Formats: sequence, structure tokens, C-alpha cells
Amino acid sequence: MKGKKSEHTEISEVGEFGLIESLTSGIKTINKSTKLGVGDDAAVIKAAKTTVVTTDMLVEGVHFNMMYCPLKHLGYKAAVVNFSDVYAMNAKPEQITVSIAVSDKYALEDLEDLYEGLLLACEVYGVDLVGGDTTSSLSGLIISITAIGSADAKNITYRSGAKPNDIICVTGDLGSSYMGLQLLEREKEVFKVNPKSQPDFSGFEYLLERQLKPEARKDVFEFFAEAGIVPTSMIDISDGLSSEMLHICNKSQCGCSIYEEKIPIDMATANAAEEMNLDTTTCALNGGEDYELLFTISQADYEKIKEVSGISLIGHINEKETGCMLVTRNGSLVPLLAQGWNSFKE
Ligand code: ADP
Ligand code: MG
Repeated sequence: MKGKKSEHTEISEVGEFGLIESLTSGIKTINKSTKLGVGDDAAVIKAAKTTVVTTDMLVEGVHFNMMYCPLKHLGYKAAVVNFSDVYAMNAKPEQITVSIAVSDKYALEDLEDLYEGLLLACEVYGVDLVGGDTTSSLSGLIISITAIGSADAKNITYRSGAKPNDIICVTGDLGSSYMGLQLLEREKEVFKVNPKSQPDFSGFEYLLERQLKPEARKDVFEFFAEAGIVPTSMIDISDGLSSEMLHICNKSQCGCSIYEEKIPIDMATANAAEEMNLDTTTCALNGGEDYELLFTISQADYEKIKEVSGISLIGHINEKETGCMLVTRNGSLVPLLAQGWNSFKE
């Protein structure tokens, strides 16, 4: 499912400069900190606050599959996952740079679709696309995005700040993006056997959207500012709740208890898991790409957060010696294991 436009212009016809020109000529910048965007040897940013920087690389065949990932969605997602990392520092994303390596199986129109998605995400999140690099690749597409964000130094939230008795919170619901991917994989196998088959995703649209067009929690970042909350620690959930919780506990030198019954799971996730004979809790703990925020707050902030819809209180931080535990529905303690997505795993 590549570019849906009917034209097909070889990239070699327009050349590197022609390509950059058609991808970036319409770009306008909106943030005060952006002094100069695309067009010179470097972008110019005037930061009034502290700067946070993050990079993510997406490789065709490793992180995405062209068979079921339209390029516009891929562009959107590639930008959003970077914004999510910036929000996870309790900072506001303001600029991105986008570097691409492209093989000759892609047409100019495909990359225009990719940039449509990138620029839509920038518009939705109020971010400027200020530069990048363009080169060729021998196989497939590689996209590397760097996001730059700003925050007051005192508000920046690290993985290392959790303390015993802090409350563990998570936004949204977990495991839905993973279930969306399972559905897509299942249909891909059906399609291989019977190319005439039409995929049936009815009732599971939410799961596909979570996988193909995830959103970052800008709203939660804004809520923290309004409510005067600075989480004691925070991380975004890209590799599954277990893995991220262990990161916080390792960096913060503490343990935790998470209550299975408190983990937020959408009905569609539960239904799809049942249909595929998967355990819902396992999907929520180990499935990836939720892009929700996992954070801890001190007891003093409990009143500010206890009734906020879309934020679940799922456990608390303990002394390191108690380990990192899941308290199951029947009350037994099971150690949390990092079984999430890992690109070096088989
Ligand atoms: P240089 O040779 O100095 O690196 P380039 O020709 O690579 O310059 O880039 C020219 C301008 O276009 C720069 O401002 C650069 O940031 C921008 N640019 C190049 N590739 C991309 C891209 N894929 N997306 C956005 N901007 C790009
Ligand atoms: Mg360059």
C-alpha cells in the first residue's frame, strides 16, 4: 500500500535538490523560538528555556512494513513518537528535523505522502519542521527524526525521580496498539493465501487506529501545567508497561507494586485478545507502541489527580528490596519482566 496518487515520478528525474524542494517548499513555521527553518546550511533556534533533544530511527522491515502501513500514516506516526518522547520529559516539542534514506522503488509521490503525514502531525502538535537530510538507500526506506523541545528546568521530569510511596499512574489504555498489529499480521497471512480476500476489521477500528495513527499525550502535558503537577518520574510507553516500569525503578533505585485489576484495558482490546487466544494482561504489560505516559506523583498530589478521567492509578513505588511486582487478580505476587519489544531480540 504505497502512495495512493496515480502519478509516478522517479526520484532520479527530479534529483536530490528537486526532491527537497517539492517536499519542503510549502512549509511555514509558527513557533517564536524558530528563527530559521529549511533552506540554509542549518536551522536557527533561539531557546528561551531549557532544551530537550530526542531522536528516533525507523527502518523498513524492522519497525514498519509497507504492506499495511500507508506512507501518510507512517509520516504521522514517525513524528508523533518523537513528540511522545519530548512530552515524557514534561517538555513541549517545538521543532523537528527529518532525515530520509530512500531506495529507487519509491516515487516522488510516495515521499509527498510521507511529508503530508509529517506536516499534519506538526500542525496538530504545533511543531515546526526546520530541516533534515536526504540520501539514497540500497534497500527500502529509513526515516530518522530529531525532535527539539523546551521546558523550564524545574519542570523537566526524569526517569530517576520516583520515591517510595509515590503513586504510579498511567494515561489512556494499554495493549490496544499491540492488538491492532496482531490483527494486521493475521490479515496479512490470510492475504498471502488468498489475495482476493478483503480484510474484515469491523469492531476493531480503534485498535487499527492505535497502531497506525497513534497520538502523543499533549493533553496530559498541558493538564500537568494547569494543575500545577510535576510528576516525580515519567516515561512514555513504547515497549510495554513492564519494560517501562522497570526502567523507572532501575533509574530511581526503587521497587514497585502494580495491581493487575487496575491496568486500563479497552473493551475492543479484550475482545480481540479473546478471539486470538491471547491473555489481555500480557498484551497490556508487554505489547508496545501505546505512547501513553507512565508517571509517578507524590502523595501530596493525590487529590489533584484521583478523579481525572483518562488517568488510572495502578500501583505505588516501594523500597528497592521489595522488587518490582505485579499483584494479580487473585492476590499473588509475580515479578515484572521486561518482555516488551526489543529490536535486537529474535
Ligand atoms: P547541505 O548539503 O548543506 O547539508 P542539503 O542540500 O542537504 O544541504 O539541505 C538543504 C536544506 O534542505 C537544509 O536546510 C536542510 O535542512 C533541508 N533538508 C534537506 N533534506 C531535507 C528533508 N528530507 N526534510 C526537510 N528538510 C531537508
Ligand atoms: Mg545535507
